[in-house]
Amino acid sequence: GAAVDIADLSVRFRSKRSTTTAIEDVSMRVAAGEFISIVGPSGCGKSTLLKTVAGLVRPTSGTVSLFGDEVTGPQRDIGFAFQRAALLEWRGVRKNILLQAEMRGMDRDRAARRADELIELVGLTGFEKALPHELSGGMQQRVALCRALLHEPPVLLMDEPFGALDALTREQLNAELNRIWRETGTTIMLVTHSIAEAVFLGTRVEVMSPRPGRVMRTLPVELPAERE
Ligand code: ADP
Ligand code: ADP
Repeated sequence: GAAVDIADLSVRFRSKRSTTTAIEDVSMRVAAGEFISIVGPSGCGKSTLLKTVAGLVRPTSGTVSLFGDEVTGPQRDIGFAFQRAALLEWRGVRKNILLQAEMRGMDRDRAARRADELIELVGLTGFEKALPHELSGGMQQRVALCRALLHEPPVLLMDEPFGALDALTREQLNAELNRIWRETGTTIMLVTHSIAEAVFLGTRVEVMSPRPGRVMRTLPVELPAERE
């Protein structure tokens, strides 16, 4: 089955005064190992879609399933990276990454090994003990990416992860993300404002319409033989 199966999903937020439709009637299947880029204007429901997949927001109607199991609450086997790295200021790089292991009760040796692999993979070797304020924005996002990947989640969700970075750093991180995707086989859903980024990274681009949040169009991406 699909890694992620979103079926007839609608999400409405109700308050006493009003109801906001964030997502209306979205269906989307993501096969294992795919990299889906999601684009669309601000407020069209992109963040809500990812949060619903992660089990942080409950569908008003419709369903989300991960590998055939319906999502009914926060998912352990998902990695999530946001625009803000949200690192703990008083903990070094390695300890920030290992936070994920503590929260999930991972085996300590396995977590330590995986943390070192990831640190090397993103080029943070030598910065293991550096504190977040000693790092550039790009390095902080690399730490957040390692933290999201520490428990080897089969599905990684990213909400504008590099949106606050300068163009060059973004380009470097996108190249690293592409390499991580190819090396780990992780299924990835990425929300981005950049069409160029969406096309460079994705095996498919989903365009969400302004309002209410529906998928308007799916753009297949021609994969070149070598994407480096
Ligand atoms: P995007 O990520 O595409 O910018 P969002 O998913 O953040 O869009 O938001 C979609 C719509 O849902 C917006 O109108 C937003 O204001 C609304 N919304 C999002 N989260 C909430 C919430 N927790 N409570 C009320 N409304 C919300
Ligand atoms: P926004 O409108 O930017 O989504 P929010 O206050 O809803 O603002 O969320 C702030 C950030 O924290 C967002 O990136 C959001 O996706 C993330 N977030 C919200 N709730 C949770 C949660 N329960 N667990 C992890 N991250 C969350």
